[in-house]
Amino acid sequence: MRIIFLGPPGAGKGTQSARLVEHLGIPHLSTGNLLRQAIRERTAAGALAEPYLASGQLAPDEIVLKLVGERLGRDDCAAGAMFDGFPRNLRQAESLDETLRECGRPIDLVLELKVDDADVIRRLAGRARSDDRPEVIAERLRSYWNQTRPLLDYYRKQGILCTIDGRGSPDEVFERIKEAVRTASGGSANGDRPG
Ligand code: AMP
Repeated sequence: MRIIFLGPPGAGKGTQSARLVEHLGIPHLSTGNLLRQAIRERTAAGALAEPYLASGQLAPDEIVLKLVGERLGRDDCAAGAMFDGFPRNLRQAESLDETLRECGRPIDLVLELKVDDADVIRRLAGRARSDDRPEVIAERLRSYWNQTRPLLDYYRKQGILCTIDGRGSPDEVFERIKEAVRTASGGSANGDRPG
């Protein structure tokens, strides 16, 4: 299966997508992780992206799309992938659709993890990542609201959006996610597509 995880920073996407990739046995394609890795390894892409991550703004599409393209080209992505933190804007979504259409493997399901703004801010304040300072949090929420949220309509129109209530314990939320995946995959327990 090819699944996209959408939701504001601090909604619990990281935790839930890690559990879901383990459950489904598909690669976890997190653009935040790919960018942080590029920065750690001091690649050219990493050097270009670093100031954006530090300030909470979206990194340039060219850099992100190149990293995603490279990752999607690896053999393990033939079976499926879980996109976490990508796409973040319409241009990335359209580019992903085009890439997947070319190889005949469209997105099966888009999961929106929905939580209140107040919860997001409270959860982010409890983390210790360097981009979790208050002014950077505010910028990351702004990017989500202005650039990423419009994707909900984009995928709703495609009929593949499923909104998950992100309140409650991680186990409760994960049960809801598994149920959505089961439904989208036609009822098989591990999300394999029938036929
Ligand atoms: P994340 O780990 O998904 O919260 O991403 C951390 C930071 O990486 C974001 O605040 C952005 O600066 C950058 N980033 C991650 N994914 C993307 C993306 N798809 N497009 C642009 N910037 C991204």
